[in-house]
Amino acid sequence: MLARKVPKTGDELSILGFGCMRLAQKPSGGVDEERAIRQIRYAIENGVNYFDTAPIYHVGRSEQVLARALADGYREKVRIATKLPPWAVHSRRDMDRILGSQLETFGTDHIDYYLLHSLVKEKWENLHRLGVLEFLDEAKKDGRIRNAGFSFHGTLATFKEIVDAYDWEFCQIQYNYLDEDHQAGTEGLHYAAARGLAVMVMEPLRGGSLADPVPPEVKEIFEALPARRSSAVWGLRWVWDHPEVTVVLSGMNEEAQIRENIQAASDSYPNGLGEDERIAIAKVRDVFRRLMKVNCTGCGYCMPCPSGVNIPDCFALYNSVHLFPHKQKIFRTLYLGRLGGIVGDTGYAGLCRRCGRCVAICPQHISIPQNLEEVSATMEGRGMWLKIRLGKAAFFVFHRVPQLRSAIKVLTG
Ligand code: SF4
Ligand code: SF4
Repeated sequence: MLARKVPKTGDELSILGFGCMRLAQKPSGGVDEERAIRQIRYAIENGVNYFDTAPIYHVGRSEQVLARALADGYREKVRIATKLPPWAVHSRRDMDRILGSQLETFGTDHIDYYLLHSLVKEKWENLHRLGVLEFLDEAKKDGRIRNAGFSFHGTLATFKEIVDAYDWEFCQIQYNYLDEDHQAGTEGLHYAAARGLAVMVMEPLRGGSLADPVPPEVKEIFEALPARRSSAVWGLRWVWDHPEVTVVLSGMNEEAQIRENIQAASDSYPNGLGEDERIAIAKVRDVFRRLMKVNCTGCGYCMPCPSGVNIPDCFALYNSVHLFPHKQKIFRTLYLGRLGGIVGDTGYAGLCRRCGRCVAICPQHISIPQNLEEVSATMEGRGMWLKIRLGKAAFFVFHRVPQLRSAIKVLTG
């Protein structure tokens, strides 16, 4: 496992960080805690020493699962990064209360890397007005936090303003080969690094959109390169290629993915990509930009929707129809089955009542209700209600076939 140093402190961090926003799930839903704990410990044993979580991830479970994973002596081997949720802060007292409860959750006397979560202009101004910088000063002075930073989803101008407003040790930005000019982007990365901030990168694969399976056009471009690597590894290596990046966070939840990422982190050096590889990735970027319809990273911040819309799944399946036109039928069936409530919780786009609650919270600034309207028109068409009824009836019959056969056998002797 390669490491890079935090410029202001010299702290050595593994270049691969474990993002705890997408922990392993049970088939029935909810975090598969035992599996997630095994995965976290495996990562630690293989050199990962930076773990990023937040109160909002998995509706509050993420911090608790990470805390459990770090029992039995693992805490001492890692740096914990967690966050102050601006939407839960209404006074200076709230900041101390939230940090206090996080310290309690982790059973530790300090958080190594503490971030103001998901800043955009309004959230930053509000926290600033409530005295967040004095709070950070005090928490660092009395040892409750070691390093102060912020994660960011706003505009480049706001990013620079925040970087210049405090003596931060680090920041966390969304960065991948599709987002060079989006949010902080490459200019923000250089700006922060030039001022001595460590830069942690989130969404290096845009919520998995840049990982396999990728559209056939993308596959072809990668397969033409001499080095055989998965699309995910190409995406990660592109980020590590930037010397200004300190840690790349990956929201890992599959054992094979964890092994592959750890392997990639053993030889991904700054300026390590060849010219032909950079050109290939630029071509891949053009293909994705042409095919993707909605900029959703699947972060889930907009959930739950009061009308029951599963916003990230609606956008993921809608994007899939455009990224993989040859598999349209499969994705449309999945949409009806999953989001129509036939084999999961109902959450299709047509349920949106345009209340607007989700819009302010989306870090990608997606016009969610308008986009859901398009999803509904494309994926549902007319008569969604009837399609769901028919789908449920077909599902019921399908699953009763063996029982029906046995019943007929019994009746006919
Ligand atoms: S605008 Fe639509 S999707 Fe967003 S929270 Fe309201 S009902 Fe849900
Ligand atoms: S719509 Fe926005 S908030 Fe919701 S999952 Fe997608 S990126 Fe995240």
